[in-house]
Amino acid sequence: MKKLNAIIFTLLMVFSIKAEVSKLNVVATLPDLGSIAKEIGGERIKLTVLANGNEDPHFVDPKPSFIRVLNQANVLIDNGAELEAGWLPPLVNNARNPKILGYSPNHIIGITGVKMLQVPIGKIDRSEGDVHPMGNPHYLLSPDNCLIVASNITESFSKIDRQGAQFYQKNLEKFTQRLNEKIIEWKKMLQPYKSTRVVTYHKSFDYFIDYFGFELFGTIEPKPGIEPSPSHINELIQKAKNSDVKLIIIEPNRPKKTPNQLGKTIGAKMVILPLMPGGGGSPDDFFGWYDYIVKTISESLKQ
Ligand SMILES: [Zn+2]
Repeated sequence: MKKLNAIIFTLLMVFSIKAEVSKLNVVATLPDLGSIAKEIGGERIKLTVLANGNEDPHFVDPKPSFIRVLNQANVLIDNGAELEAGWLPPLVNNARNPKILGYSPNHIIGITGVKMLQVPIGKIDRSEGDVHPMGNPHYLLSPDNCLIVASNITESFSKIDRQGAQFYQKNLEKFTQRLNEKIIEWKKMLQPYKSTRVVTYHKSFDYFIDYFGFELFGTIEPKPGIEPSPSHINELIQKAKNSDVKLIIIEPNRPKKTPNQLGKTIGAKMVILPLMPGGGGSPDDFFGWYDYIVKTISESLKQ
């Protein structure tokens, strides 16, 4: 009997190790993409997210350990709108993993099917270090775009892990249903503040502002990725003085002195909002992150 128990135990161990090994090894560049991958992949994936929620997604610290992580990945999920252009390409090249290069189900390009804001017409101007030369890459701040990305992820996971196709599809349905319910709740919470004028540090919340009907009055950065000069701030103050701007939105990684002073001068409140899950002490799951943003805005405007 003891022997039989030992055999059963060994078999169980082998099967559990096998289950662990057969999990899809997924790498997401950023926590917003990772949080959606988690909703779809659940326990069938082993997820690694390269950046943390407090980092600037344009300038993530490219740790050497990322090369090994990328080398072993089955799937890479990236933003695809040049958001990671400043740090990801050398890591992917050094990882020498043919699976995640180019176009294949193993390389999920989040932006596929998303309508990007601020796409330049005509010549692309990269002068002065503008980090949004192709358009605004912060598209996951629109819930509708999150649904598109979730469906891109489902399609790829289902192609690579065919046995899990039904599981992923079910999770997509669950995610879609919950998100649609949440959208109604979030719109209701923000409805009283429609058309409120806001200033942001970077052009990072444009999709959110657009989606929930706020008005972007101006930005502290003169151009995305360019730090403000005193004359730019003075211009912004003059413009904003009698314009009833209520909120100044900054990300957790921004310097607080200038936005704070600006807020005091023009009578607006400064709030720190997480551009990505886990940033600024927000929850690191998808719905917790969005809930936190909506709640923070509605509470700041209520007072
Ligand atoms: Zn940006």
